[in-house]
Amino acid sequence: MSLSFQVGKTSGNARAGRLLTPHGDIETPVFMPVGTLASVKGIPQDTLEELGAQVILGNTYHLYLRPGIETIRKMGGLHDFMAWPRAMLTDSGGFQVFSLNELRKVTEEGVTFRSHLDGSTHFFSPESAIEAQIGLGADIIMAFDECTEYPADRERVRASMELTLRWGKRCKQYFEEHKQEVPWRTSPRPSALSPRQEQIRGSARNHSEEEASQSFFGIVQGGMDRALRKESAARTIEIGFSGYAIGGLSVGEPRNLTREIVESTLEHLPADKPRYLMGVGTPEQIAEYARLGVDMMDCVLPTRAARHGLLFTSEGKISIKQARYAHDQGPLDPSCACRVCRRYSRAYLRHLYASNEVLAQVLNTIHNLSFYLDTMRRVRHSI
Ligand SMILES: [Zn+2]
Repeated sequence: MSLSFQVGKTSGNARAGRLLTPHGDIETPVFMPVGTLASVKGIPQDTLEELGAQVILGNTYHLYLRPGIETIRKMGGLHDFMAWPRAMLTDSGGFQVFSLNELRKVTEEGVTFRSHLDGSTHFFSPESAIEAQIGLGADIIMAFDECTEYPADRERVRASMELTLRWGKRCKQYFEEHKQEVPWRTSPRPSALSPRQEQIRGSARNHSEEEASQSFFGIVQGGMDRALRKESAARTIEIGFSGYAIGGLSVGEPRNLTREIVESTLEHLPADKPRYLMGVGTPEQIAEYARLGVDMMDCVLPTRAARHGLLFTSEGKISIKQARYAHDQGPLDPSCACRVCRRYSRAYLRHLYASNEVLAQVLNTIHNLSFYLDTMRRVRHSI
């Protein structure tokens, strides 16, 4: 497959690498901000570029409901639609659908679910989840899997893992038959691009036909069972993907168990392919997982916490709404060089938050994302 991944330096289990995508290279280990609805909430795309975000996530389930896959496909794909020139990754919608709980029904064929927006009924299958992700056109797309709930008994974990493996094969087959349909390869012809589109697509067009296609990652499940994780890894590798994700973690299990499963699963993943740990964690955790040998991570924590006034700093977590900051003229984090810490005081940030100003969400998110991206940059440089 098309994705090229080069591991440069290693240090213990940690690796510093480079992932080449049609929309630019990604230095790993990398943290990927989450842009659920084609937007990292509150942050303009040029600011994300300035912060050094190399790749961002889109959520297929949310984009499928609003504005709809067909709308985005007709706009030339997610990059064109949201004017993001760098790399993107979409999830398969599986995790979101599974978090709907009461609103879903799983069969061999796929998942029937009800929209959290209006209660309307929809159906995702492995095939339709890949079709949607080809329509969105992210550089990296994910297999449609079942995220096993926690706790679950061994029989249930095995049955769920087997379903994910069968779905993985169906996803792969659909992808192989339809991968040429990605919107930035098909329409419009390069000569018909507007200057705006030209800027967004520029990097994608510099690649050869073979290189300029999406990369497809498989997902390892197996609950909290080390033997099943090993088996899931081996059989997912057998299906053959250009990268491997560790799914089904951060579902309510204790943190030391997350770490144990991550560590034991990593042992069974190929060294020459990117490894993606989905949906974790705090700044300390992402640094820890990178040191264990994870290459890619995403989490809503920095953006979601920011909107609730919870800020990660080199001195620990701060709740900016507290009265103790009302007259604090110091920067949010004296060790952070982000544009928020360079310019504003804690007193001002506290005032914005207490007054429910939109700017509070923007500035808080900029700082938290900077803090995460800087944390990962430091880990990269330490390898
Ligand atoms: Zn800052």
